[in-house]
Amino acid sequence: MRLRDLTAQAYEVPLRSLWETARGKSDIAYNVRATAVLEDGTTGYAEVSPRSYVTGETQESVLLAIAQNGAHLCGEDFLGLRAFVEVTRRLMPDRYSARALVEMAFFDALARSWGIPKFRLLGGAKREVRSDLSIPIATPEQTAQIAREAFAQGFRHLKIKVGGLGVEDEAQRVLAVREAAPGVILRVDANQAFDPEAAVVFIEWLIASGVPVECFEQPVSRTDLEGLAYVTQRSPVPVIADEAAVTPEDVLRLIRAEAAHGVNVKLAKSGITGSLDIIAIARAAGWKLMMGCMLESSMGIGMALHLACGTGAFQYIDLDSHHLVGEAKEPEEFQQIGEVLRLKF
Ligand SMILES: [Mg+2]
Repeated sequence: MRLRDLTAQAYEVPLRSLWETARGKSDIAYNVRATAVLEDGTTGYAEVSPRSYVTGETQESVLLAIAQNGAHLCGEDFLGLRAFVEVTRRLMPDRYSARALVEMAFFDALARSWGIPKFRLLGGAKREVRSDLSIPIATPEQTAQIAREAFAQGFRHLKIKVGGLGVEDEAQRVLAVREAAPGVILRVDANQAFDPEAAVVFIEWLIASGVPVECFEQPVSRTDLEGLAYVTQRSPVPVIADEAAVTPEDVLRLIRAEAAHGVNVKLAKSGITGSLDIIAIARAAGWKLMMGCMLESSMGIGMALHLACGTGAFQYIDLDSHHLVGEAKEPEEFQQIGEVLRLKF
């Protein structure tokens, strides 16, 4: 199958409220959308939300990479997605999100041309999943208010961003969520903010206090493999690597170092085939898998949902950024019913 045209456009998404994590604040998501037109005229679409602290890429660098390389991907007869991805790797070796974007647009076009829903091409394990909702760094009062609203909307899993304040203040915020949303399962994401000792004190204190924390994401710097292993050896709950795990090679390195118990898979990091490779490695190692997102609107979340449903591989689903985006239209490919995300296929 040949591509006739491949273009990318800046897609800026205003967020409903300020989004703050230990990595910074934003009120706009600087995303990129791509359009891939096959030789038979079928058009595919995709969206990526590049985050410089994860892959080193920005909206500008993704747009530039595709402006420079898009034409080189047109005209060649590709047998399928893996053949296409090999060429993107050669053309853009260190542009993970840019590669993911063109791969997803090509895959969307292929699926439409063949008339087969993407989740079926990816294995067809299930049609729906249950996602958590993420709570940004905020005051304990604001944190509790968001938790109450999420509980009322039907969410029974919440992911709390921590690390902006000290260990004690962050523990108070997590307690505030437990009070506001009783019985809810909590996931905690420090976005690299703690040092290894503080991370262990924090998670041990939460568990000793009876807080139902299910997993602890990226407690320390992505470059501190030893620190991550230190927390992993001591944490009473599974440690999940996110920023430290961009490529399948990263995941293998983490597994060898016993530096986590699982990995957060995101399309902006590893695309579709890279994510499939990570899933295979993690499953073989008995590691846990989270399907995560950056700040995508419903188009990007839809692709991640196809991967999550197609593979059925994920213990934790964190597909929620479309809630942050004030989109006027209902998502094209899925419905949200409480915490359930259901594909419309
Ligand atoms: Mg994370």
